[in-house]
Amino acid sequence: LFITFEGPEGAGKTTVLKLIVERLQKEGKEFIATREPGGSEIAEKIRDIILNPAHTAMDARTEALLYAAARSQHFVEKVEPALVLGIPVLCDRFIDSSLAYQGHARGLGMEGVRSINEFAIGDRMPDLTILFELEPEVGLARINAHSEREVNRLDVESLAFHKKVHEAYTLLAKQSPERFCIVDASKTLEEVVENVWEILKNEL
Ligand code: C5P
Ligand code: MG
Repeated sequence: LFITFEGPEGAGKTTVLKLIVERLQKEGKEFIATREPGGSEIAEKIRDIILNPAHTAMDARTEALLYAAARSQHFVEKVEPALVLGIPVLCDRFIDSSLAYQGHARGLGMEGVRSINEFAIGDRMPDLTILFELEPEVGLARINAHSEREVNRLDVESLAFHKKVHEAYTLLAKQSPERFCIVDASKTLEEVVENVWEILKNEL
């Protein structure tokens, strides 16, 4: 069982996942929780290259290929071995982030980005994707209010960029309604955690 958390900046994916992990541990469930880009030593190094604010010259295709490279390494090293053993995997971001950010928002096209990701991980898609639905304006305001967040190269992106990300996620969810579960991320943290828990407790 492979479950991914997707959505825009400031939607609360990481925070909610942390709280869900605590609950699952209390219940003694077996699972792993991980993140992208990163999640393994090599992939975290690629993450540092991608997100380094000094790398302003990074080309969009280079960026897309680095995300795919990090994904491939993390998938082979961490995700796949767990899935083979029947251990559920919860992952903060996955391929839909690349389709939304590099494919649509950066303008590379979702099909091109899909094909480099097929090369990276084959046809393995998540079984379930929880989409944190949030207006881009709200997400950006939350990020700006949250000062201890790590600085990254994407911080300079405009509202228009984030609107495209939002548009892409909406389209992806429409294209695969059997895989996507949409959660209203504008609610309070407690409510969002509760909603995500309701979805996950039937699966895990
Ligand atoms: O989710 P997290 O905050 O760790 O992501 C780090 C940054 O990488 C964010 O600014 C996110 O928008 C960006 N990102 C991206 N393309 C992806 C995945 C993440 O631009 N495929
Ligand atoms: Mg996060």
